[in-house]
Amino acid sequence: MSKDKSAKIPTPQPVRGTQDMLGDFADRFAYVVETFERVRRLYGYKRIEVPVIEPTAVFARSLGETTDVVSKEMYSFEDRGGESITLRPEFTAGIARAYISNGWQQFAPLKVATHGPLFRYERPQKGRYRQFHQLDAEVLGSDSPLADAELLVFADQLLKELGVAEGVTLTLNTLGDAASRDAWRAALVEHFMGRKADLSEDSLARLDKNPLRILDSKDPRDRPIADSAPDIDAFLTNEAQDFFGAVTAGLDAAGVAWERNARLVRGLDYYRHTAFEFVTDRLGAQGTVLGGGRYDGLIENLGGPPTPAVGWAAGIERLAMLLADDLIDTRLDFVIALEDDGRLMFAMNALAALRNKGFATEIVATGSPRKRFDKAGKIPARALISIGTRDGEPYVNIRGDDELTISGSAIISAL
Ligand code: ATP
Ligand code: MG
Repeated sequence: MSKDKSAKIPTPQPVRGTQDMLGDFADRFAYVVETFERVRRLYGYKRIEVPVIEPTAVFARSLGETTDVVSKEMYSFEDRGGESITLRPEFTAGIARAYISNGWQQFAPLKVATHGPLFRYERPQKGRYRQFHQLDAEVLGSDSPLADAELLVFADQLLKELGVAEGVTLTLNTLGDAASRDAWRAALVEHFMGRKADLSEDSLARLDKNPLRILDSKDPRDRPIADSAPDIDAFLTNEAQDFFGAVTAGLDAAGVAWERNARLVRGLDYYRHTAFEFVTDRLGAQGTVLGGGRYDGLIENLGGPPTPAVGWAAGIERLAMLLADDLIDTRLDFVIALEDDGRLMFAMNALAALRNKGFATEIVATGSPRKRFDKAGKIPARALISIGTRDGEPYVNIRGDDELTISGSAIISAL
């Protein structure tokens, strides 16, 4: 008797904008993270972990009420205790909160790195998800332009080691210190006010609270107005100019190529001095792979002591998409075909010995013994070991990569 159809359990669907990963993309994702973990050690960045959930105020106060992230993209909810909680949309604010909560001022300047999931309620599309993942690096408690330069050299080396630097450009701008920025802001407001009638609705809304954002508007109506707006250069104080000069000199000394983009302002209100993005045209509209800047006012905004800081974040999915097709070798070192079940214990012993010596090894020991050799041959591995019996005698044969054949033979004959 067939079961009552109405009792069929509905299939759960994934949340829109989330991803399940297996195989190639999961390998690429892991490769990006592993490379980041290796390179951040070269630059002396400590590993840090911060919560996925934070009080909503951590982001609302630090990112600025008018940013896209705070006004439209946050996953906020009331928990059972009635507190407003937000799933982190970025790392920086949470790390700044942790710096204050734990009194990490004592470690300043503190160089930290982390990676993990972030959540933004955006329109899902290629390279844009609601749960996505970032690599993140921050230097807290340093007002030195050397910190900005080092952070950028770190980012540049990471992209080179991932093999994605080709076609990716570091674009750089300065947003000046508070005095430069205020003077520039006033000039921008004047410029935009004069052309108010031609601005998009979004930019009109920004005019009051965040006029800098109009500069990087993607709306074609805004582009001519944004392009003809004054650069910050005429408003930079000597200090701000020197700071920017020291950052670019540091990049030049380290051999890092960069381009000035005087329109680059970045989404968040808290940036000062350096702002930057590594951009590519290989990902369609989602062309920013890594972005960041200096956020000297943020920790103070959160109620902490005045603390200069600088950092960046990079989308892991976007980096994973850029990796070359043949970059990751997921092959095993050895695959063992057990051709005689009477030799199972010996094969298991060999399997354990090879793995203990650090060789990635799998065994094919189920199904018809006659078919196991062919089955094993289909598993991607650099060498194939067959274990069986010939003329009543134990038989081991290794073929494939020369070096592996030698080390495999030595390990197995020592058993
Ligand atoms: P975009 O202009 O693409 O919206 P953003 O300015 O919002 O980027 P940041 O907040 O600076 O991005 O985050 C840094 C990096 O994180 C981006 O450069 C990108 O690689 C990645 N990123 C941001 N939002 C998403 C998302 N929704 N899905 C996947 N990756 C993302
Ligand atoms: Mg965004």
